This record gives sequence, structure tokens and C-alpha cells, in this order.
Amino acid sequence: MSHFFFFQDIGSLNMKDKLEALLGEALSELGAASTEEGLQELRVKYLGKKGALTGIMKGLGSLSAEERPLVGQVVNTVKGKLEEAFDSRAVEIRESVKAARLSAERIDVTLPGRRRAVGSKHPITLVTEEICAIFAALGFAVAEGPEVEHDFYNFEALNFPKDHPARDMQDTFFVGENVLLRTHTSPVQVRTMLKQPPPVRIIAPGTVYRCDSDATHSPMFHQIEGLMVDKGITFGDLKGILTLFISQLFGSDIGVRLRPSFFPFTEPSAEVDIACVICRGKGCRVCKETGWLEILGAGMVDPEVYRHVGYDAELYTGFAFGMGIERIAMLKYGIADMRLLFENDLRFLKQF
Ligand SMILES: [Zn+2]
Repeated sequence: MSHFFFFQDIGSLNMKDKLEALLGEALSELGAASTEEGLQELRVKYLGKKGALTGIMKGLGSLSAEERPLVGQVVNTVKGKLEEAFDSRAVEIRESVKAARLSAERIDVTLPGRRRAVGSKHPITLVTEEICAIFAALGFAVAEGPEVEHDFYNFEALNFPKDHPARDMQDTFFVGENVLLRTHTSPVQVRTMLKQPPPVRIIAPGTVYRCDSDATHSPMFHQIEGLMVDKGITFGDLKGILTLFISQLFGSDIGVRLRPSFFPFTEPSAEVDIACVICRGKGCRVCKETGWLEILGAGMVDPEVYRHVGYDAELYTGFAFGMGIERIAMLKYGIADMRLLFENDLRFLKQF
């Protein structure tokens, strides 16, 4: 028996040593594990069904009945310590992985943001809005009309004789018989007067069309038309309002002059010039050495127009004026070529 006990003593001591060694080895490997995958591998290696601790526990059967509970206790202690160590290491690894991810994904608020391209208004839009704002302050309302027009509104009611060259196929885009793309914004005047009795004070911006295309003409361009009708309106009112408008648009020191002219729908009529904005009247290529630039057509509304819209020409007088927005924009912003306004080149448009 003694021999047997001795043998078992050796066995149990062996197993305790083995367990101590196993625990030490496992703890040091655990300390080195830095990923959840690595930790899982270690868990299988030590605590798995075919793991080291399970292997030692299988040896319990060879111990004596007295020794078995003692060694079993040690095994349980080691197993408990290992499980605890695994759990706390798992928490540590999870925390450090999270910390690493948080630091990698940290938002640096001092970094400059990604720039978004900011659009700008087209010079035609800018000038249109500016002109409308100036006239709005003078009590003019903005009126609009269709771009596809009837001959009556575009020509007939505006006193264009049947043989007027502006009606020619060369100038006008006809859509059908008596239907056309408006050649000016003047039909808006006719439509407004047909809709309401005087007093009238409107400004009509819009797109117009003519069969014309070269360096200084585009088949589609923009006009602004104005109309003021009331009792006692005189040519002096026309001159006063246009002079005020021009001084607000180009600066108060700009020279203005009116020259006699002719339009079918106004009598008398005038061309309005401003002192050249490039050379300030000294003479240059833009003003063809004259020192003046023509920017507006204007005049007192022809009584023949009143007849077409049912206004009493004995009671009411008024004036109308119109201008090309492209020309105003070119002069205001110093744009040399009108085609720049229609080419949609962002390098050009971004400057406004
Ligand atoms: Zn000039």
C-alpha cells in the first residue's frame, strides 16, 4: 500500500505542478493576446473540449479516492482563475479595440471642410433684377406675357403697318399663320392695357426672338419694356424717369441725351444715349469715337395704340421705353463679346 501511496503522491504532486505550470503559461499567453480571435484560440487551447485543462482533468481518474477531491479542488480553482482571466482579458481587448477605432475615426474639427461649388446669378438675371428693382421703387409693377404671340399683340395693335419690314420673314420667327415668337416685349403693353384701365405703370422683362445671328446679334435675347399711362403724362416725365433710372444704374454723374427717332408705336420718339461708360465721353472704339452709347428707345405712346386697346386718347397720355438687357449688361460689366452671355462658360459666369 505504502508503495502505492507513494506512487499516488508523486502522481498528485505531478498534477499540481502541471496545473500550476499550465496556469502560469496560460496567463502569460493571455497577457500577450491582443485580438479577440487570438483570445478565442487560447480559450480553445486551454479550456476547450480537447484543451490542456481537460486533458489534465481526464488524469484525475488515475488518482486515489482520497487524492481525487484535493486535486479536483485545485483543478476547479485553476479553471476558475483561467475563466476569470479570460473574461477580464476579453473586456480589456474589447475596450482597446474600441479605443483604437474611436481614435482612428476621430473627427478633426480643425480640418478645412470640403468646399461646395456655389453658383452665381447670370449677368442677364442680375441686370434684369436690378432694373426691375429701380422701377419698382418708382411704383412700376412687373408684368409678363407669352413668348409665342399673336400678330395682333406683337404688330397690329402697336401700329406696325402690314408692309413694315419688321414683319418680314427675315426678321420674325413665324410659328403659324398670325402666330409668331414675339420680336419685342411690347405686346405685354398691349395685353396690360386691354386688361386694365389707366393709370398703368408697368415694367415688362422677357425673352424675345429675331431671325438674326452674328457677332453682335443672337436669335434669342432679352428686353425690358416700360409703360406709363395716366392723365397729364408729358415728355418731361419720360425724360425725368429715364434720367433717374440711368443715374441709378450707371452712376449719377453719367451724361444723358435724347435724340429724335422713329418707332411705329410712339410719337414723338427718341433714342436715349448715355455718355460712353468706357471713355467717359472722350471717344473710344466702343462708342465709335462719338463719346455716346445708345441704350434705350422711347417715346410718347401713339394715339393709334390707344385706339386698339380702347383708351381715350383725348384723356390719357403716356410714354413707353424699351432696352436690350444684353447691351446694358455688356456696358455695365465691361463684356466685349455678346456671345459670352450665351456660351455658359463657367469661368466667365463665376465672375459675377
Ligand atoms: Zn467711348
